[in-house]
Amino acid sequence: MGRALTAGWLCKLQGLLQDWPTGLLPGALLPSALRARPSIPDELWSTTLAQLPFLDYLSDDDRRRLKSLCEDLLHTKPLAGVGGFEVDDATAVLIAAQACVLVLKLDLSLYDDMSAILVHADAFSVRQQHVDEAGVLHEWDEALAGEAVDQGGAVVLSWQDLMQPQEPGLPWNLVIHEFAHKIDMGRGAPNGLPPFLDGLHSRTELADWPQAFTAAYDDFCKRVDLLEDSLPPDFDPQRDDHAVLYDALAAALPLDPYAARDAAEFFAVASEAFFVAPAPLARAYPKIYRLLAAWYRQDPLRAADSAR
Ligand SMILES: [Zn+2]
Repeated sequence: MGRALTAGWLCKLQGLLQDWPTGLLPGALLPSALRARPSIPDELWSTTLAQLPFLDYLSDDDRRRLKSLCEDLLHTKPLAGVGGFEVDDATAVLIAAQACVLVLKLDLSLYDDMSAILVHADAFSVRQQHVDEAGVLHEWDEALAGEAVDQGGAVVLSWQDLMQPQEPGLPWNLVIHEFAHKIDMGRGAPNGLPPFLDGLHSRTELADWPQAFTAAYDDFCKRVDLLEDSLPPDFDPQRDDHAVLYDALAAALPLDPYAARDAAEFFAVASEAFFVAPAPLARAYPKIYRLLAAWYRQDPLRAADSAR
């Protein structure tokens, strides 16, 4: 999640220093008014959708709208590699398709706060800070697969991580996670409560969002606490056998344990599950599924059922 203004400026500078590779979107770092709106070739679009089987629930009309939104996003937002990494057209469209499915029934203006999309070749290191209860500042470097930088910053992604095959049933999706954070930043510091849009969202339908999300978050934290209590006393995540044990226990949870980090992460991780593996989420937290369906104005579970 984004947190550092410093990192935001750094990302913006890095983005501006990159040249767009040759291909579909030449001059993508120019202001959007100075470059033509791209047209994604049908073959590239088909290849992209084939890599994202969780999008099978979309109707033909939805797919056409998604493609158009991708073209708008790639027209209006700079997308560039960092540190000499070159983003090709296939990667650009793969990122755009996953970013735009979140706003498929909403509005691309939800990403107005985002300055650019930046792609590293691999995981990248970010300086993290935390002030503990005694007021002591802790600083450390953390390797990240993705980051959404707040206050107008970029979404930053690791190409290695975003290219991991989208295996059926696993509730992980790096791009959806980071863009959900960007949406959450629409009303300031991310807190798991995205903005409600006039004319698109029913405030009555979403009225119990704060209470429902707090209750589900508290319940999920208890489940993660129980998982951690069941680990061996000498648990070491660096040990292969312990990592296997942890993954096996975590697989029984409806969401990735990372969701227990804070309310903003709970929203981002629940959004991943909502699109990628909605059934366990709907079983464990039906109210959260319904609220997400009302907010995203989509129902992947029902759409997938009726498409069968
Ligand atoms: Zn996050």
